[in-house]
Amino acid sequence: MSVEPSSSSIVRIALGSLLVGLAVLALKGFAAYATGSIALFSDALESVVNVVTAIVALVAVRLSARPADAALPYGYYKAEYFSAVVIGIFIAVAALVIFWRAYEGFLAPAPIEADPVGLGVSVAASVLNAIWALTLQRIGRREKSPALIADGKPLMTDVMSTIGVLIGVLLVIATGYTQLDAVLAALVGLTILWSGWQLIRQSVIGLMDVAVEPKTLNAIRELISANAEGAIEAHDIRTRQAGPMMFIEFHLVVPGAMTVEDAHTICDRIEARLREAVENAQITIHVEPENKAKHSGIVVL
Ligand code: ZN
Ligand code: ZN
Repeated sequence: MSVEPSSSSIVRIALGSLLVGLAVLALKGFAAYATGSIALFSDALESVVNVVTAIVALVAVRLSARPADAALPYGYYKAEYFSAVVIGIFIAVAALVIFWRAYEGFLAPAPIEADPVGLGVSVAASVLNAIWALTLQRIGRREKSPALIADGKPLMTDVMSTIGVLIGVLLVIATGYTQLDAVLAALVGLTILWSGWQLIRQSVIGLMDVAVEPKTLNAIRELISANAEGAIEAHDIRTRQAGPMMFIEFHLVVPGAMTVEDAHTICDRIEARLREAVENAQITIHVEPENKAKHSGIVVL
């Protein structure tokens, strides 16, 4: 079983990502300014996206952790989907700016300044990014957190694209074929768009109340069946996920003459088993008498 890092260490790591992102952004911005390269400008915009992502993620982590209150009785878990939508919109704007500048640069190519300091600073930005990505993966492995290891991946992608852009810029300087700079910038724009699409797709799935995995649903059905002794049937099982929370609801058919107290005891037993098996489960059970049974759900064993 993987153990997620505590929320305070998540906040510390998110702050670290933000600081590294700001430093990398400053270095890349300088490199783009010093060389006048559109490709390096796009690479710097990619860092703007990373910084915005880090800020929004930080806010979302704190917001999601808030307990449910009178205004939001189901909790704040969906905050993380909204943060993904905000980031997605930001990515789309960044990509549009990049495509526009690439288009202009392709039609009216301007020479690149072969500024050694600018190029060196860009290399330094990549090294810093790579070190942080590796640090995240190391902490992730130590804390057995797949989430942290995954956090390092986009940074490594960023490092790769910066290396690609640098090789391209050196080619442009060597060959004088300035339009290649605009083509490289457009490629960076496409990479950013692709990552934005992935993000939006995931959050839309979450906002649409997607059901739990079939494997988990089967486990839930078996647990209900195995722990509902005294009941007759369970039907209309519905599940949905919201961030880390998992909502489970179903109807439980009991003999019409059973007391409320006995029916409630069965519900409590099922709820306790489900909570043990499914992390962050929120369970609602609707009890109904025999003559309302559909006889099309799980027959209780
Ligand atoms: Zn029913
Ligand atoms: Zn109760």
